[in-house]
Order: sequence, then C-alpha cells, then structure tokens
Amino acid sequence: MALRHDQGIVLRSYPFGEADRVVVLLSPNQGKVRAVAKGVRKTKSRFGGRLEPFSHVDLVLYEGRNLDTITQVEVIEAFPHLRQDLDRVLAAGAMVEVLDVVAQEEEASHRAFLLLQRSLRTLEEGPPHRDLVTAFLLKAADVVGVGPALAECAGCGATGGLHRFSFAAGGVLCDRCRTPGAVALRDGLTGYLAALAAAPIDALPEEDPSLSDDALGVSRRFLEYHLDRRLGAAVRA
Ligand SMILES: [Zn+2]
Repeated sequence: MALRHDQGIVLRSYPFGEADRVVVLLSPNQGKVRAVAKGVRKTKSRFGGRLEPFSHVDLVLYEGRNLDTITQVEVIEAFPHLRQDLDRVLAAGAMVEVLDVVAQEEEASHRAFLLLQRSLRTLEEGPPHRDLVTAFLLKAADVVGVGPALAECAGCGATGGLHRFSFAAGGVLCDRCRTPGAVALRDGLTGYLAALAAAPIDALPEEDPSLSDDALGVSRRFLEYHLDRRLGAAVRA
C-alpha cells in the first residue's frame, strides 16, 4: 500500500461510519480531495482540531481503493483570528461552499486554491471589506471560465451605456443589445462590479454601502445561473 503527500484547505467534513469523518479539501494539484480521518469523533483524536474547515494542512495519506486515509496532519496555516469573529467565519463559510461546488475531483486547481488562500488571509488580517464575498464570487466565476462581462457589453463590446445585466448573455448589456430578461442595474453598479472583479482580493476598491446589496445579489444570481444550483444562506448574508 502506498503513502502519498498532499496539501489542501479543508472545505468541510462529514461523519463516516461510527467514529470517522470524511474530510473534503481543496488541493492545488488534485482539486477536490476526499479522505478519511479515522477516529476523529472520539474525544481523544490524534488529529485534534487540525482538520477544521479553513485550515491549510499538509497531509500524509495512505492510498485506499475508494478513499485515502489520513495518517498524518500538519497545519500550514490555521487562520486563528478569522475564527474568532462570526462575520468573518460566515464570509469564509460562503467561500468554501462556493469552491466545494465548483471544484472538480482529480483536476488541478491552482487558481481556485490561490483565490481561497488569499481570501482567507485577507479575512485573517482584519475586518473584511464589506463586499469581499461579492468580489470572491466574481473571481470564482472567472476561475471556472464563466466570469461575467462587466467592463464592456456582452453583446457588442460597447463600453458605454451599460445599464442592464443578463445572466444568460453572461454580463452587462448596452441599451442597444438589451434583452427582455435583462435586469436594470442602478447607477454606478456596473462600474462597481467591474472594479470588484478586477481588483486583487486584498486590495478591493473603496466600499460603496449603497451598492453592496445589489452587487451581491447580481453576483450570486449570476453564479447560481451558471452553476445551475442555489448557493446557501452564507452567500445571502
Ligand atoms: Zn451592446
């Protein structure tokens, strides 16, 4: 039986059998990885709290026929400050939920991994930008190849008069290209979304609280449309 090394950020875990858990991780090289942590539901587990969601861990795995078994865990980054603040835990929860949906098994996902790692570090450093999750959703869409057109019309490429958003057309539309199903965006929202999508996750543009709710709503619905799946409560906050 072979041992192998891997690393990843814990997305979630779920009970498995009497005393074990399956841990779901995002690995930069392997995409979504599922592995069994034996005995973690006993009070004295040798893994302690090292396999909590958001932890970046280094693993030694014993290869199994269906699921690999975790034999050693070392924490690379634990994000302790993030965990002390409910708002930040909710934001991180929304992020891991999205990547749990979009990441594929056995498919390298360096960009998705780096996006999550940078986002968690940003949350670790202090109270987050109020639109961090929105920016994360836009960047996650881009990582999986469905990033919305925001700086120019998804229909004709025009850069002015972008007042509508079409989930089906893949982004903003000018007045000439507008389709019946396209939603109207309030003044300033197109530019704000474009700025959130373009900026590094740890250097987002100045907050505009008047646009936050709409920005999250459009971004979430866009991603849900393209994933063909509803995202949970954390992405609605
Ligand atoms: Zn157009």
